[in-house]
Amino acid sequence: MSDTNRREFLQRTGQAACAVALGSTAIVLGRRACAGDSWAIAPNKCINIRLGVTGADKVCEACATSCVLPLSAVRAVNEHSLCGRCCICPAYFDVRSSMGPDGLPTKKVCPRDAIKRTVIGDVDANDPLNNFYEYTIDEELCNGCGRCVMECKDPAGLGSIRLEVRYDRCLHCNQCTIATHCPEDAYTRVGPQPRPAIALEGEAG
Ligand code: SF4
Ligand code: SF4
Ligand code: SF4
Repeated sequence: MSDTNRREFLQRTGQAACAVALGSTAIVLGRRACAGDSWAIAPNKCINIRLGVTGADKVCEACATSCVLPLSAVRAVNEHSLCGRCCICPAYFDVRSSMGPDGLPTKKVCPRDAIKRTVIGDVDANDPLNNFYEYTIDEELCNGCGRCVMECKDPAGLGSIRLEVRYDRCLHCNQCTIATHCPEDAYTRVGPQPRPAIALEGEAG
């Protein structure tokens, strides 16, 4: 059964109350019905986060495609204190694409344009390579596909981007469908985590 069909199946049958997640009211009910343990990603097991595994051809997108939510509860997070703030960030630019007239790669890594790039510090307007940049993930757009995480590693990156489960979005299913699809057993059950009341009541999904 394809991932899409499986999600539809779960929603049709009500096998998992977590799957009833298409409106704000349903989200709240779903969270209450699925008040199980939380899930977390083990960085030393995840293909995308783990050091020593590189290359876009190896990326695992199961966190994006297997969650019962229409937009996965997993997000990429950039730890700014670890980020090199490079001009040609390999997680932002597709460094395999051709160079444009400005000396920058013409394509980006993120298929959802969820990474925002902002020049910081003293700005040299004439030389982009002479500046530093802050890379921030837009959580409304990111679906946790992990492509940027895979690229933000040695030899080109510093490993500042990782994947995290957003507990205020997650339905805390008793049997997480990402965990059942994870090829590395990296999606692990952890104890109950705090869930912000404001997000539970105000989120539209
Ligand atoms: S995880 Fe995927 S969707 Fe999210 S910022 Fe990275 S490349 Fe974009
Ligand atoms: S428990 Fe897993 S499948 Fe359920 S909402 Fe959270 S991440 Fe998605
Ligand atoms: S499914 Fe497992 S290996 Fe794949 S991105 Fe998620 S945690 Fe990593």
